Amino acid sequence: MLIGIPRETRAGETRVAATPETVKKLAASGAHQIVVEAGAGTGSSFPDAQYQAAGARIGTASDALSADIVLKVRAPLPEELARMKRGAVLIGLLNPFDVAGVQAIAQAGISGFALEMAPRITRAQAIDVLSSQANIAGYKAVIVAANEYGRFMPMLMTAAGTVKAARVLVLGVGVAGLQAIATAKRLGAVIEASDVRPSVKDQVESLGAKWVDVPYETDEEKQIAEGVGGYARPMPPAWMARQAAIVHERAKAADIVITTALIPGRPAPTLIKAATVAQMKPGSVIVDLAVEQGGNVEGAQIDTVANVNGVKIVGIPNLAATVPTDASALYARNVLTFLNLMVDPKSGAFNVPKDDEIIKGTLVCENGAVVPRG
Ligand code: NAD
Repeated sequence: MLIGIPRETRAGETRVAATPETVKKLAASGAHQIVVEAGAGTGSSFPDAQYQAAGARIGTASDALSADIVLKVRAPLPEELARMKRGAVLIGLLNPFDVAGVQAIAQAGISGFALEMAPRITRAQAIDVLSSQANIAGYKAVIVAANEYGRFMPMLMTAAGTVKAARVLVLGVGVAGLQAIATAKRLGAVIEASDVRPSVKDQVESLGAKWVDVPYETDEEKQIAEGVGGYARPMPPAWMARQAAIVHERAKAADIVITTALIPGRPAPTLIKAATVAQMKPGSVIVDLAVEQGGNVEGAQIDTVANVNGVKIVGIPNLAATVPTDASALYARNVLTFLNLMVDPKSGAFNVPKDDEIIKGTLVCENGAVVPRG
């Protein structure tokens, strides 16, 4: 079969779905040909020559897009979709909650696998693209915050006097939030963190941060807070109001706030209101990782560092793409592990195991139709 790796064309997308390392593994069986679009790896510092040395042919966009199996980072744009062939297999971040987008892929007669939909089971950890990319975003959020912050992160005792450690507040402690805590800790900050899911408290404390508790007042609140499948659910308004009051106080004391709270398929919850921003210290920095999903912070805007009375609100979308080489390396390994469910790594034999929980979870369209969600 022909496996194609096109260059990503969405604005700001620097990542690529296969690296020379994964191409070499894909080519190992000798059963498949691999075509990489010229320049596909440039944004991630993987030159064409490295793909060639790994066993790929360098081709045009049409060569890569018209392959039997197309490996992508982002969902194809209409002009990309038009070059794909009916019956092809497409693997990538297909944005499954974009109904029109998935419909378009279905109508093109393509079998689409949205990696975001992989169930959060142990066997799927090596293909968990949300984790591999959120980990990078959490790290980079702290680096961006440190860059925007006009002070040191660590406590320093110098001949010219003592410098206080930065106080960092992390709201939403999934994969990105945990990495943000770990990175801020390495830089010497003093960290507080909070999440709706109670199971996170121990993880926060084990990283040396202080847990900010928002108590549950009813059994219903407690039950919703447990989430489902590892993901959070929208909390009742009464809990959100209590959270806002506690966050207001903690944010006023913080120098840096990093927000990462997401609820799959829904707008991100608002965790920091404009009234809270108004009372934060001048020079404070907020990095809103949820800005593409509507933001956790009132006033956060995509591609903008807003300055609200001296408080900077940073809204950089797709932070993982700003660490492109490692983001691509990890994403490409996720993709390869997924592909190995349908392409035998040794013999190269192709067979889609329709009963596999990971295949069932990720298949969003086939035979011209969108796969209904149970
Ligand atoms: P996410 O990106 O969907 O959300 C980020 C965080 O925001 C979550 O921790 C969520 O609880 C929190 N949040 C949502 N609404 C909130 C609110 N109103 N207030 C405060 N916080 C709020 O989550 P994620 O990073 O993808 O990970 C979720 C969990 O799944 C993590 O505990 C992670 O360790 C787990 N996980 C498990 C597996 C596995 O077992 N295979 C794989 C990956 C992740």
